[in-house]
Amino acid sequence: MNTGSYVNGKWYRPASSGTTRNINPADTSDVIAEYPLATAADVGLAIDAAVAAWPSWKKTPGPERGRVLWRAADIARRRLDEIARTLTREEGKILKEARGEVLKGISLLEYYAGEGFRMHGKTLPSESRDTFTYTVRQPMGVVGLIAPWNFPWAIPVWKSAPAIVSGNCVVFKPSELTPATTVLLTEIYDEAGLPPGVFNMLVGTGPEVGEAMVAAPQLRAISFTGSNRVGGALYVKAAQRGAKVTCEMGGKNAVIVMPDADLDKAAIAIHGGAFGSTGQRCTATSRVIAHAEIKNALVERLVAAAKRMKLGPGLDDSSEMGPSVGDRQWQTVMDYIKVGQGEGARMLTGGTRPAALSHGYFVEPTIFDGVSPSMRIFKEEIFGPVLAVTTASSLEEALQFANGVEYGLTTSIFTENISSVMKFVDEVETGMVHVNEPTVGGEAQLPFGGTKSTGVGEREMAEEGLNFFTELKTVFINYSGKAERSMTR
Ligand code: NAD
Repeated sequence: MNTGSYVNGKWYRPASSGTTRNINPADTSDVIAEYPLATAADVGLAIDAAVAAWPSWKKTPGPERGRVLWRAADIARRRLDEIARTLTREEGKILKEARGEVLKGISLLEYYAGEGFRMHGKTLPSESRDTFTYTVRQPMGVVGLIAPWNFPWAIPVWKSAPAIVSGNCVVFKPSELTPATTVLLTEIYDEAGLPPGVFNMLVGTGPEVGEAMVAAPQLRAISFTGSNRVGGALYVKAAQRGAKVTCEMGGKNAVIVMPDADLDKAAIAIHGGAFGSTGQRCTATSRVIAHAEIKNALVERLVAAAKRMKLGPGLDDSSEMGPSVGDRQWQTVMDYIKVGQGEGARMLTGGTRPAALSHGYFVEPTIFDGVSPSMRIFKEEIFGPVLAVTTASSLEEALQFANGVEYGLTTSIFTENISSVMKFVDEVETGMVHVNEPTVGGEAQLPFGGTKSTGVGEREMAEEGLNFFTELKTVFINYSGKAERSMTR
């Protein structure tokens, strides 16, 4: 049995008798691994290892820290196929999407490897004569990272790479649903030469390992991605003990389609955004707000494309959509389909598990029309292949519908009109906006995250990701030879 957890540079077997079984959601008879579950006591050991490793890692020059990430990127590229297959097997997304996720993680490793050469502050003029003032970025210390299951490679990389390159030591908790891909990332960091104690990984549950991490005073910062239910409570607890916290949580992302849009392109983008990765992306398109003039023509295209979609195991090259990640998520999606029907929305396609795929957690791509902005399927995150279509009579009304939810991750518009584009960018209340492209996607060098209930704290990825894991120190060096500062005003 693989130990799963890794502490102080060694694979580590927690003392607990509990285990977690890692199951392939496309075929529930396929057990990927069974890992012993770490406990709160193991969190203590991982923190001790990280605290002991920190003084030396902090003093390691940034470029040298960056080179470890560069080597990790090289190893990941060599092992791309193995990582992608493991990811597909445990999370369910199709292999092409898993390969895309691994490549994105590699770009993040390369980006942050380069950041090791920068880590810059600012030099600013002082009000005083003969005084040199500047800022410098320094690592926080030991930080706790908690990840969800839907991007089990990219999210662990986008949290750990900036933390490591800026000189922190890490205690990392993957989702108990997808630990195997993070086991591979840990192997890669080990092979790349990360010193013992810099990256520690514990396979355990949220209530046991996650709670212990959030409560641990040694963890100066907590970076969480996951649901609002967990993130909201975690934020309060961590902030109360003075930790720096960032939480990236749910989304309910809309595409607005205006009458002058290229409907074929809009339909392709909406289809990919809604049903790609089985709708299990925080940036997935789950709402379409279509202008009344083109709504029927658009819906016709969307329904035709959904009906053509081939469901099946992600490892099968002919599959276009895999399963939900597990039984709970599958049940949530099925429950929301019932809610939509009960609320009076018209289900145009989908809504069931195909009989031939009863050995996995499959749900047909599902489209509801006639969805009003007050319905639950319009407002609540479903996290599955369910698309809600609403009709608007103007851009103003479309924006009002788009903004009328608690979430604020991403929105897209399809239009050829520059005034509509600029008004949309100005007024839409999400952290990321797209024009004439899907709601999904992120790049290493671009800040990622949401507004309103989606995100609290610093954005992730890019320079902002690095800012989160560093403290800013403001330095005054008085070389005037006088005790007092001599102000110029
Ligand atoms: P989740 O909140 O159930 O779990 C996330 C992580 O928190 C897991 O590792 C889990 O074990 C841990 N956890 C659970 N209870 C805990 C507790 N009491 N204390 C500390 N940790 C605890 O979320 P999930 O189902 O894994 O992920 C899906 C959610 O993630 C969706 O809402 C999705 O929108 C969101 N998400 C957001 C982004 C983003 O950047 N905004 C990206 C990906 C996923």
